[in-house]
Amino acid sequence: MFKSFVNSASVTSASRRLFIISLLISMPLSAAESLEPNIAPPEQELLSWLSDQETEMINLLERLTNINSGSLNKAGIAELSELFSQELSAMGFNIDTLPGGRIDMPSCPGSDYSIDLADHVLASKSGRGKRLLLLGHLDTVFPLDSPFQNYRREGDRVFGPGVADMKGGLVVMLYALKALDAKGLLEDMAVTVLLNSDEEMGSLSSRKYLEAQAALHDYGLVYESTGTNNLVRARKGLGQARFVVNGKASHAGGAHEQGRSAIKELAYKIVAIENLTDYETGVTVNVGIVSGGEARNTVAPCAEGLIDLRYPTPEQGLEAVAEFEAIFSEVYSYSGNTDDITTDSWVNLHRPPKIPTEESDYLLEKTRALGRLLGQELGVTDSGGGTDGSLTQAAGLPTLDSLGIAGTGAHSNREQARLSSLLERAQLSAVLISRLARD
Ligand SMILES: [Zn+2]
Repeated sequence: MFKSFVNSASVTSASRRLFIISLLISMPLSAAESLEPNIAPPEQELLSWLSDQETEMINLLERLTNINSGSLNKAGIAELSELFSQELSAMGFNIDTLPGGRIDMPSCPGSDYSIDLADHVLASKSGRGKRLLLLGHLDTVFPLDSPFQNYRREGDRVFGPGVADMKGGLVVMLYALKALDAKGLLEDMAVTVLLNSDEEMGSLSSRKYLEAQAALHDYGLVYESTGTNNLVRARKGLGQARFVVNGKASHAGGAHEQGRSAIKELAYKIVAIENLTDYETGVTVNVGIVSGGEARNTVAPCAEGLIDLRYPTPEQGLEAVAEFEAIFSEVYSYSGNTDDITTDSWVNLHRPPKIPTEESDYLLEKTRALGRLLGQELGVTDSGGGTDGSLTQAAGLPTLDSLGIAGTGAHSNREQARLSSLLERAQLSAVLISRLARD
């Protein structure tokens, strides 16, 4: 699995020894980094082809950003699906549609939290060599009624919804493939592209497809943003839960004692849940949204909350779920007969922690070494946020999940990206993909 970075086919063993010795003498970096061969002429052609496409890449980013694709905007996501299906089909990929579907969650009467998710795109082509799985998401966190809708450019910075997370990454991925196609290198490669529509909802519908594809491939590449030029090595796991407390409505003046306040019970539960946060162990819990009640003078018959969970290890995730369940089944606010207070819940550990392996570290260091050859200095960082790469890595596929455009401010109206990184990352990916296919 861990091959030398020297391409043994290109040098005889004696000259290779000399080559290695001369490298060792002049080497300021670690051995693994310095032994990466230089950019070969066919790779140089990929770089030049992409340089000529920079304006087209920027135009596509503008076009994609101006199409709203909030996770629940099925029409916008369908427009993007069609665009990518056509592009990938033209390069010889077979296109399949993977059904989205409904995710039902408990909710108070009048606040339906069930979600209806758009379909996903699976594009695949067979070939020789290592099988590569390329992942991207079509959705953004910005719904149709968000005030943040348009692409705007100021010099080398662009602003817009999803410009970094991850429409820039989609452009990077597409143009890396287009470069390989233009130079006749794609034809023999075994590549699958999965574009899901629900990543920002936690990949609740696409998870099964991601895990199934992970089992069929050798390397996973995810085109989430590189942030400030960093590749992410490890990530915390993520969980989410909805809980709905049902009480008993009553007149707040005339029959207070006959009521069972769902809001009062919700308040106790919020405190118990928030107290699960432990900065020492790295487990954090956040009750991010609450609602409930019907009127000021009515004892609340229903109240609900939405929880975010972050956890460093799978065991901690399972422990937190068990603690949530215990809190949901307890009644804190009334003693005696508590039959009138019940709690419905939905809990989902939607992102396992991304725990580095030797193979994923190999992928990461190989990419950094290639970045250096291209004049791109890529750092390494850990993250509290999850991606689909967390799912594929946990399913056993060595995955690198931050190959997209350099950008900051994701999920806010400050979202922006460095435009020149569009070409840089497409060049990095085109060469990386061609090397990994022959790995
Ligand atoms: Zn993203």
